[in-house]
Amino acid sequence: MFSPGRRRRTYVAGCILLAALLAGTAVAAVPAPDDSAQLLRQADGVKTSNHPEFVQLLKRLGAEAATLSPGQRMHLRYLQAWAIGYQGDYETATPLLNAVIAESTDATLRFRAGTTLVNMLAIGSHYEEAFAQVSRLLDQLPQITDKAARIQGLGVATLLYNEAGQYELGLTYATQMLQENPDGDGGCKARALQIQSLYESGKFATFDRQYPEAIDACSKALEFLYANGIRANVASFDIQHGQSSAAIKLLQKHYAEVRRIGYPEQISEFDAALAQAYWNEGNTALAQQYAYAAVDDGVKHEFTKSRTSAYALLYLISKKQGDPNAALAWHEKYMAADKGYLNDVSAKALAYQTVKQQVQAKKLQIDALNKQNQILSLQQALSKKAVEAGRLWIVLLLSILAFVGFITYRIKRSQLSFMKLARRDGLTGIFNRQYFVGEADRQLQYCRKSERDACLVLLDLDHFKTVNDTHGHAVGDRVLKRAVAACQAYLRSTDVFGRLGGEEFGMLLPECTLDQVLARVEQMRVAIATVSAGEDAPGIPISASFGVAAATNSGYDLRQLMMDADDALYRAKREGRNRVSLSDSRHVHLSLV
Ligand code: GH3
Ligand code: MG
Ligand code: MG
Repeated sequence: MFSPGRRRRTYVAGCILLAALLAGTAVAAVPAPDDSAQLLRQADGVKTSNHPEFVQLLKRLGAEAATLSPGQRMHLRYLQAWAIGYQGDYETATPLLNAVIAESTDATLRFRAGTTLVNMLAIGSHYEEAFAQVSRLLDQLPQITDKAARIQGLGVATLLYNEAGQYELGLTYATQMLQENPDGDGGCKARALQIQSLYESGKFATFDRQYPEAIDACSKALEFLYANGIRANVASFDIQHGQSSAAIKLLQKHYAEVRRIGYPEQISEFDAALAQAYWNEGNTALAQQYAYAAVDDGVKHEFTKSRTSAYALLYLISKKQGDPNAALAWHEKYMAADKGYLNDVSAKALAYQTVKQQVQAKKLQIDALNKQNQILSLQQALSKKAVEAGRLWIVLLLSILAFVGFITYRIKRSQLSFMKLARRDGLTGIFNRQYFVGEADRQLQYCRKSERDACLVLLDLDHFKTVNDTHGHAVGDRVLKRAVAACQAYLRSTDVFGRLGGEEFGMLLPECTLDQVLARVEQMRVAIATVSAGEDAPGIPISASFGVAAATNSGYDLRQLMMDADDALYRAKREGRNRVSLSDSRHVHLSLV
């Protein structure tokens, strides 16, 4: 079951997973407004590049905690949690980070704490939570503008996907990271992660080409942890390709530095790689020494590749040394670690798939909700349109109503003017015969009911034929109008005045005594005689004869009054014209008595 060949690669990966935890914000030495802010930035900047200084700075800041602002205190809490995680105490660090995520008002700090937490969760084998958290971080990523925080987020995504065997995905995030940060600290980390993705996915040709540049970038950025992480990959690659002595050379050259940096996972990784290389070279003593170191280096996490491969080597060494008890013991440890490691690998892959499904399901749900929202907003838009259309209809209907109203008004007005025309005599403008009869009758009824006086007067122009014959019809028309106007000057609004035909007119004068009527008629007669003497009929005297009948004598029947007034008029004509004659008929009145 055990095969050293199969395990060749097992001691390589894992280093960089924690390297992401170590990823900090490289802050340029910008003068800070106050000492505490300066110290915090400084501490943040040297987390991995100068860990002892970082620890010192944290101590100083911890002592000054009371003088820090709430935001600065939160930043310090994050760094303290980070430091605890760096020491490998993930169980203690995790709740501290969760508190920062829950309590900080700074989105960037929350995001950074989230990325650190992903590392902790992954290292603590809480893979589902880690993948769920990384997926949340990637959702937040578009809103994060802080360069260093973005590096951290993309970095942790790359690491986690690499760990789950999703190297293509890891490579994508690493490449995005590199595009955003080609230089300095970010450029180093992006390259280191790219190298890891390439190495793990077996793209050795690309790996071979790119790693010197990546190591160079990290060395220049003073990110020695990352440079050494890449070297661990290179050494592993060399060991796999029969270049164990080259691997030993490379690892030994930087071994002291790795020890100084003091990151347990990386130390263990270097030890395991050296053990394997020395074993391959036939140096059992050194192989055993480094294998012991690899399983002894204070890595809390049980199932790393380094530890597993070191157990395997120790088993082989014991076997070679003829110590079956020790061999059995190491083999048992190896089996447990290997099983644990493989379980761990499948747990990661499973967690990745599970979270992927969950995220997809959530996205589908969101899509469905979005669709629903789209439908709702469409419906809203439609109902808005319907309201608008309704409004249009109302406007249209109102316009139609206004138009109909206007037309009705016009019709009514023309009806009214038509009615007015229908009542009036076209030449003189006074009532025509038909309307005069109706109105006179109405007035007579009213006077009869209210027992008031009423008189009917008929007038006929004298020798009017002669006027027409002498001066023409047009002059005759004008004389007619003037005669009417002359009479109107002596009429009240309640009097009814109409043209009965030709040059014959009728007047019904209500609420007037006979004497008053006679007086007014006399004034009319004089007025007509005066008017007619105008330029329209020079030399021809114009006059009118009047016949008057009173209701007191003739009664209130219009026909009777007309007949009596006509008799009187006829008498006036006979008696010489240009005079007023009063009816002497009393039969109707008497008959009424
Ligand atoms: P008298 O009544 O005094 O007996 O004599 P007269 O000439 O007025 O007699 P008559 O009533 O018979 O004649 C009426 C004339 O009035 C006949 C007609 O030419 C004229 N006449 C009737 N209607 C009009 C009209 O609308 N315009 C004009 N210019 N003349 C009219
Ligand atoms: Mg006449
Ligand atoms: Mg006449």
